[in-house]
Amino acid sequence: MADKIAIAITDNAALRIYAATTTELVKEAQKMHKSLPLATAALGRTLTAGAMMSVMQKDENTSITIQFKGNGPLGTLVVVADPKGAVRGYTANPQADLPLRPDGKIDVGNGIGKNGYLNIIRDLGNGTQPYVGQVELQTGEVAEDITYYYAISEQTPTAVSLGVLVDRDFTPKSAGGFIIQMMPGWSPDDEKIISAIENKLKTILPVSTMVANGYSAEDIIKELLDGVTEYHILSTETPKYKCTCSRRRVEKALISIGEKDLKSLAEDENGTEVNCNFCDKIYKFNKADVAELLKKCTR
Ligand SMILES: [Zn+2]
Repeated sequence: MADKIAIAITDNAALRIYAATTTELVKEAQKMHKSLPLATAALGRTLTAGAMMSVMQKDENTSITIQFKGNGPLGTLVVVADPKGAVRGYTANPQADLPLRPDGKIDVGNGIGKNGYLNIIRDLGNGTQPYVGQVELQTGEVAEDITYYYAISEQTPTAVSLGVLVDRDFTPKSAGGFIIQMMPGWSPDDEKIISAIENKLKTILPVSTMVANGYSAEDIIKELLDGVTEYHILSTETPKYKCTCSRRRVEKALISIGEKDLKSLAEDENGTEVNCNFCDKIYKFNKADVAELLKKCTR
């Protein structure tokens, strides 16, 4: 089944709900990074969150970067989400491994680590200074940390659920998530709906199981809101894994490291190789190429 994001609003306009199925894009990420289940789960959850957060943005040009910097063996984890659910990401150590938790789940919390920060950077794409929000890591399980970010940094009550099931052959079996967000101006009457949803959250299947059972993004929303309140679907998007690297961008990045560093690269007889973190593509520059870039360097 193709990946999908559905966006719904309750008829009283108190809540907005985003649901996503992301199995295909997480499969692509796993294949690209050759990641073991720990990194696949951590990155898959964050890619799923990023895809949903990207469609929350009002401005078409806004991109969001989610950075987990914890003390776990995965190292830094980065996801960049461009508008309309286009995402890319990596972890510093995709081969990191940890024993399963006592409940049989992949130990993402210790993979990312608890000592550290979650940074969420919102770039409006208009040349203004990006907006950076930072919170301390709560559990490293991704969903709890993003929930905490919304509560502290944006003062928006939010419920986040993210899940990735990994098969025995290390390929992702299912992935998905949902974000429920309270809209400004909700009235005390809406409290009933919120506590009804809170009760529902305690009884529903994990979102990765729903997706494994064939639920679509709309089905996940139905599962959350059916019998609770009236709602309607506002729109849908197709999330995808998309790297934006190009030789031109890599050239620009090399020029930006400065004359001194570029000069030392230019002295290497073997030239220089640049590996894109997001898609593992290798860009090769021979000695003459680097010398050419050095001419464009002005600092
Ligand atoms: Zn790339």
